[in-house]
Amino acid sequence: DAHKETLEFKAEVSQVLDLVIRSLYSNKEIFLRELISNASDAAEKLRFESLTDEQLLEDDPNLRVRVLVDKDAGTVTVSDNGIGISRQEMIDTIGSIASSGTRQFADALKAAQGAAEQGEAEQGQAAGEELIGQFGVGFYSSFIVADQVTVVSRRAGLTAEHGVRWQSDGHGSYTLENVEKPGRGTDVILHLREEEQEFLEPWRLRTIISKFSDHLAMPVEMVKEDFGGDEDEEKKDKDAEPEFEQVNRGTALWMRNKAEISDDDYKAFYKHISHDFDEPLTWAHNRVEGTNEYTALLYIPKRAPWDMWDRDQKHGVKLYVRRVFIMDEADKLMPHWLRFVKGVVDSDDLPLNVSREILQHNRKIDTIRGANTKRILSLLEGMAKDDPEKYQAFWNEFGRVLKEGPAEDYGNRERIGGLLRFATTHNDNDDQTVSLDAYIERMKEGQKDIYYITADSPAAARHSPHLEVFRKKGVEVLLLSDRVDEWLVTNLHEYKGKHLQSVTKGKLDLGDLADKEEQEKTEQAEKEHEDLLKRLKDSLGERVEAVRVSTRLVDSPACIVVGEHDMSANLARVLKAVGQ
Ligand code: ADP
Ligand code: MG
Repeated sequence: DAHKETLEFKAEVSQVLDLVIRSLYSNKEIFLRELISNASDAAEKLRFESLTDEQLLEDDPNLRVRVLVDKDAGTVTVSDNGIGISRQEMIDTIGSIASSGTRQFADALKAAQGAAEQGEAEQGQAAGEELIGQFGVGFYSSFIVADQVTVVSRRAGLTAEHGVRWQSDGHGSYTLENVEKPGRGTDVILHLREEEQEFLEPWRLRTIISKFSDHLAMPVEMVKEDFGGDEDEEKKDKDAEPEFEQVNRGTALWMRNKAEISDDDYKAFYKHISHDFDEPLTWAHNRVEGTNEYTALLYIPKRAPWDMWDRDQKHGVKLYVRRVFIMDEADKLMPHWLRFVKGVVDSDDLPLNVSREILQHNRKIDTIRGANTKRILSLLEGMAKDDPEKYQAFWNEFGRVLKEGPAEDYGNRERIGGLLRFATTHNDNDDQTVSLDAYIERMKEGQKDIYYITADSPAAARHSPHLEVFRKKGVEVLLLSDRVDEWLVTNLHEYKGKHLQSVTKGKLDLGDLADKEEQEKTEQAEKEHEDLLKRLKDSLGERVEAVRVSTRLVDSPACIVVGEHDMSANLARVLKAVGQ
């Protein structure tokens, strides 16, 4: 029983398909990169599962990807003997967009289309392209060149009659049926559109494969071609299994000598592992020898992924052991505050059967994480020094994540502190561009502390009455209004020996900055207005701890401050907002 059924795409899929086809049309050859990338992932997953269950390899142990052309049928097929897809997985993965991202993608897409409708068509289109980059809707790129896509697959471990056939023209629905499939793995068959017949030319496909897939460790094969040799046509047996040859180089990029790797190679590899259509901002490639030998290739993306604030965020650093893929998202290889880093760590020393549990308490892994952290810190420090503009672009995307660093990584807090950028009263705008070092250089004579104010918006910070006296005296104040800032200042107490001091807390001690005369005036006023202060305190009662005369105000008549060791008013607001 083939159990054929027709299913509707999840509502957003059709929309996404349209967008993919429209915005990637000028770069349509990427469909091959995406399909080979998926096929290679599937083969690596099987290699890993076969470590514990050798049966899965059946009698076909050589994992590879093949690209086949059938000129008569007008099809290009990307075939792998990897892990395969079950019927249910077809519905869950191919029938819905990149699974977990569906909802967010659809929302973002609507926003982009809204922009397009308001007469900002160009902007809408650009936003669409950016979205594709952020979400990576890989499989759907098939429909750029194909008007009909068939996927035939059998999950490793199931028998031949448990094959599944998925088919769709990309308009609203797809069919699913059971088929017999002798070989394990997945064939993605593209029925090329009339105008895309150029992709039936094997040389064209070979060129694309070496451009995009050279760095894959997985061999990508095509049928061996006879280039006009004097072979006898009759001698050829039409039914014989064709001979295949490997088209890509097939060595894992990170194992190659750095001197041999071009920037384009690094970029192509990044796109494969990150599922990002954009190029990386920068990368670091290191081989470590000694008692703990490993290779690390780490990338910093250009843009924050849509799910950076999502706890289940995917696609971080992949773990390999002696060239065998072990797991995605090995979150122990990178601290959480550097979760935007992508890449590969390939260890020579870990056991192949390493599990997530083992990773939790493994000294080798801890050492690798520590070294990875230092490597990224150096990379960022170098960028901040040599290319401040590039660093600013990085900060604008990832600064808020970096601010989690001092809380999480006490040992590196001083180095992280050096990388922080803030809006301050010096520039008096909302751009986070001032480093603590720049602040310290501008400190007034006699100024001991680094002053800051936290508020729930940049405007609220900038217009706070607490700043009046600082502005008057020309003392710079950091303006903090990101949600994470409260968390940052409770964990970064000082930088280069300078205490970080809130301007809203406690008795304002401007140190040597306050002039004697003013201090005397304050004391005098305190005496003079003793009655008034007492009356105010009495009528406010329990609601305040004290009422004081202050020099911190210039234009405003009064302000509220909290005790030196109390929670700041803004933190109290944040906690209240999250229901604490
Ligand atoms: P991504 O690769 O970013 O997850 P894709 O759209 O490229 O997104 O693929 C969606 C999902 O479909 C994959 O995550 C995988 O689960 C499944 N898939 C696609 N191609 C294959 C394949 N050749 N073998 C097994 N699973 C596949
Ligand atoms: Mg993919």
